[in-house]
Amino acid sequence: MTSSERPLLNRRLAEFGTTIFAEMSALALRTGSINLGQGFPDTDGPEEVREAAVRAIREGRGNQYPPGPGVPELRTAIAAHQQRRYGLSYDPDTEVLVTAGATEAIAATLLALLEPGDEVVALEPYYDSYAASIAMAGGTRVPVTLRPDAEAGVFRLDLDELRAAVTPRTRLLLVNTPHNPTGTVLTRTELTAIAELAVERDLLVVTDEVYEHLVYDTAEHIPLATLPGMRGRTVTIGSAGKTFSFTGWKVGWVTGTAELVTAVRSTKQFLTYVASGPFQYAVAEALRLPDSYFDEFRADMRSKRELLADGLEQAGFTVFRPAGTYFITTDIRPLGESDGFAFCRALPERAGVVAIPNAVFYDHREQGTSFVRFAFCKRTEVLTDAAQRLRKAFAH
Ligand SMILES: *Cc1c(COP(=O)(O)O)cnc(C)c1O
Repeated sequence: MTSSERPLLNRRLAEFGTTIFAEMSALALRTGSINLGQGFPDTDGPEEVREAAVRAIREGRGNQYPPGPGVPELRTAIAAHQQRRYGLSYDPDTEVLVTAGATEAIAATLLALLEPGDEVVALEPYYDSYAASIAMAGGTRVPVTLRPDAEAGVFRLDLDELRAAVTPRTRLLLVNTPHNPTGTVLTRTELTAIAELAVERDLLVVTDEVYEHLVYDTAEHIPLATLPGMRGRTVTIGSAGKTFSFTGWKVGWVTGTAELVTAVRSTKQFLTYVASGPFQYAVAEALRLPDSYFDEFRADMRSKRELLADGLEQAGFTVFRPAGTYFITTDIRPLGESDGFAFCRALPERAGVVAIPNAVFYDHREQGTSFVRFAFCKRTEVLTDAAQRLRKAFAH
């Protein structure tokens, strides 16, 4: 076969194409719509943290390759954060690894731990990089679908389905709590069942906890690594992007046993090697911010959730008011609509708002057809305007 007949993009990644976010952001720009598609804040994080980054650059800290595992100040701050918030002890020198955002942490972890043909059980709908990273590692994804309970306004994990998804080929469970895009925060009962399953079947667990500080009302974030039998088999992934509103800085991290972290570092060293030098020093300071920062951030996001959720409800959507994250999943069927893709493509013209069809986060696309996701990490006046536009377009 000549090279012109052979597709350039390899078979493992051919199914992925361009992400929906590019299409929807271009649509937002072209139509002058409010972009509630992609989940990035429209205001930057704390002034003192920005200043810390500027200072680091000026003082020549991190302008050259930082150490492979991350700068010691940040590794120490990450370990202190896990200890202070959750009572988890990690050795900053051997059990913490700084990555180029959670995205690289996910890729490096899966590339490290999977052999071709290994199965990965993951909660569906899922963050779009999971499927691609599993594919790059040659793994096979086995989705367990979170089921909507519209009455209760939540998506729930069916523990029997989870159990049934595990086969002799399963290598690891890939968990995300608080969960993007559904806003589900796994309960202690659910996490205990996951932990028991992992121990019983001797599975590794990778847990994406980038929204750990965004939980509302009575919901509580419980790191999987705190459950019995889990510390030794769990890779926990965190990120500064969502917690401190610096998604462009790409500072993430992995915590786990020295053996797990060493394995992840083995692949990470050949991906980016290192990243975000000066920002690492700034994030070290951010992690040491007083509890009041985290409390105020959470309270602010909670009031934004109320603002947008109320607007969506008044417009006629079924709203799954999230217990965590900064996304609201809605069901469009009460509006007489059923196809989330068509709905999202028409929404800019109809209402001047951009959202994302949840179907893109599913392997079983039919399970997600009528769900649409809105991000609420935006300024209050922007959300007020968006809610107004949605009510005007749909409420009668
Ligand atoms: C945003 C996000 C990430 C990526 O985090 P970065 O630090 O920006 O790479 C990973 N997982 C989930 C669930 C996310 O929402």
